[in-house]
Amino acid sequence: MTIEGMLLVGQQVRYGTAGTLRAVEAATGAAMEPAFGGATAADLEEACALAAAAFDPYRTAAPELRATFLETIAAEILALGDALIVRAMAETGLPRGRLEGERGRTVGQLRLFAAVVRDGGYLDVRIDPAQPERKPLPRPDLRLVNQPLGPVAVFGASNFPLAFSVAGGDTASAFAAGCPVIVKAHSAHPGTSELVGRAVQKAVAACGLPAGTFSLLFDSGRAIGQGLVADPRIKAVGFTGSRGGGTALMKIAAARPEPIPVYAEMSSINPVVLLPAAIAARGAAIGTAFAASLTLGAGQFCTNPGLVLALEGPGLDGFLTAAAGALSACAAQTMLTPGILAAYRAGVAALAENPAVTAVASGLDGGDLSGTARLFATAAADFLADHRLQAEVFGAASLVVRCPDEAALHAVIDALEGQLTGAIHLDDGDTAVAARLMPHLERKVGRVLVNGFGTGVEVAHAMVHGGPYPSTADGRSTSVGTLAIDRFLRPVCYQDVPQALLPPVLRDDNPFRVPRRIDGRLTLPEA
Ligand code: NAP
Repeated sequence: MTIEGMLLVGQQVRYGTAGTLRAVEAATGAAMEPAFGGATAADLEEACALAAAAFDPYRTAAPELRATFLETIAAEILALGDALIVRAMAETGLPRGRLEGERGRTVGQLRLFAAVVRDGGYLDVRIDPAQPERKPLPRPDLRLVNQPLGPVAVFGASNFPLAFSVAGGDTASAFAAGCPVIVKAHSAHPGTSELVGRAVQKAVAACGLPAGTFSLLFDSGRAIGQGLVADPRIKAVGFTGSRGGGTALMKIAAARPEPIPVYAEMSSINPVVLLPAAIAARGAAIGTAFAASLTLGAGQFCTNPGLVLALEGPGLDGFLTAAAGALSACAAQTMLTPGILAAYRAGVAALAENPAVTAVASGLDGGDLSGTARLFATAAADFLADHRLQAEVFGAASLVVRCPDEAALHAVIDALEGQLTGAIHLDDGDTAVAARLMPHLERKVGRVLVNGFGTGVEVAHAMVHGGPYPSTADGRSTSVGTLAIDRFLRPVCYQDVPQALLPPVLRDDNPFRVPRRIDGRLTLPEA
C-alpha cells in the first residue's frame, strides 16, 4: 500500500487543502515524502457529521460484529507487512525489534477487546426485578446497562506509533465500547498513521459498518485538533502526550456548552524506591537493571524511571557505581522528533545547572539528533525545596534523591505530583519499612510494583496505566488493559420499561448471553 498523504473521511480518501505537513526522518532530520494535506474545517465538519450518523447503527450492531471488526483491523494491520515497520522505523528512529513487538501488542490488544465485547461483562448489566407487593411502596423494575458515550476523538502518542496511535489502545477501547472514532494523526509519524488508518478503513468496509465509524485527519496547524475537541458531536477525548498539549485540550473541552471528559495521559517521573536490605544485598544488580530500564527506547516511555528515592545506607554506593558504569557505556540514541530532543536537552540542562544537583553519570555523546543518557543526584531537603526538580525530563535522564531516614522518604513521596507507577525494591528485611511506605505511595500512583521497573506495561485485565493528576487527567481511569473501555461508557437505568423497548441485553431472554447481576447476584449465562 502506498502512502499518498491522504485524509480518510469515512470511506473517502482525499487530499487535504489546508496547508501541508511532512514526516521528518528521525535519524537524519531530512523531510520525507510525500507531503500530507492538512484537513480543512469542511473536512472536520464532514468527519464529525459522519461519526454522529454512524453512532446509532454502530453501537446497536450485534456484539459479534463489533468483535469481528476489531479482529479484522488486527488482520489488516498485519497484512500491511514490512512496509509498516520500515516506515515507522524511519519516522520514529525506533528499532525494528521494538516496532515489531509493538505491532504484536497492537493486534493483541485489538483481539483482547474483541474478547471483551463477546464476554459482555463490561456492560455491567444489573436487573432488580419489580416487587409489586413490597410494603409500604412497591419496587419498580430497574435495569442498568453501560451505554457508549458517542463519537470519540483520539490524539495518538508520539512514542507509541502503533500501540498508542491510530489503532492503538484508545481507539480499540472506544470501538469496543461502541463509539465511532476520529483520529487526529500525530505529526511525528504521518505515514505510519495513513497506513494504519487505511487498514481500519478497509475493516469498516469489510464488516459492512457505517462509513463514519472511523476517520483520520491530518492537521497542518492546531486548529483541526482543537476544533475536533470543541465539536458538539464529539463526546470524549483520548490523548497521550505533553502536559501542555493535554491541558490545552482539557480547557477546550471544559469550556464547551456541554463539557466532555478528556482522558489525557501526560507527564510522570515514576519514583523507584530503594530500601536498605535490598540495596545492601544486591545494590549493584539493581543499579544495572535500573540503567537498562532508564535507557530503553531512549527513555521515551511514560513509565520511564525518572526519579530514584534511596534511603541512605550500605549498598547505595554500590547501586550508584553500577548504574553509573552501565550508563557511561550507553550509546546515545536517536530520539523521536527534533522537538522532543530539544525538550530533553533543555530538561537535562536545567538539572545540570541547578546548584543543589550533582552529576553522577553521563552516557556516550552521539550525533546532533541523539539523546545522551544522564543520571543526577540531590538531597531530600533540596528536592523538597525546589518543585522544578520533579519536572518530567522525557528521555533517558533520572534524578537520585538521597533520603537520610524514613521520615524524609515519606515527605518526598508526599510532595510528589500524581504518577503512573511507583516501584519498590525490597528484600525480606525491608517488609516493615515497606509497610510504612505503602500508604504514602499508593496515594500517589496508579500502579505499585515490587522489584521491577514500570517500563513494559502488560496489556491485561488487572492493569492500571493511569494515576492521579497530572500523570493522567482523570486518575479514576486507565488507558491500558481491558478496564480502559470504561472511559467511553456511562450507565443508563431503565425503569418499568416494557421488554420490547429495552436494549436486547436487558431483556429477559438475554439473547447475547451476557453475564448479569440479578438482585445483586452475579448470574452467568448457561454454557
Ligand atoms: P504533544 O506535543 O503534547 O502532542 C501530542 C498531540 O497533541 C499531537 O497530535 C499534537 O499535535 C497535539 N497537540 C499538542 N498541543 C496541542 C494544542 N495546544 N492544541 C491542539 N493540539 C495539540 O506531545 P508529543 O509531541 O507526543 O511529545 C512532546 C512531549 O510530550 C515530550 O517531550 C514529553 O514530555 C511528553 N510525552 C509524554 C508521554 C507520556 O506518556 N507521559 C508520552 C509522549 C510524550 P501535533 O502533531 O501537531 O504536534
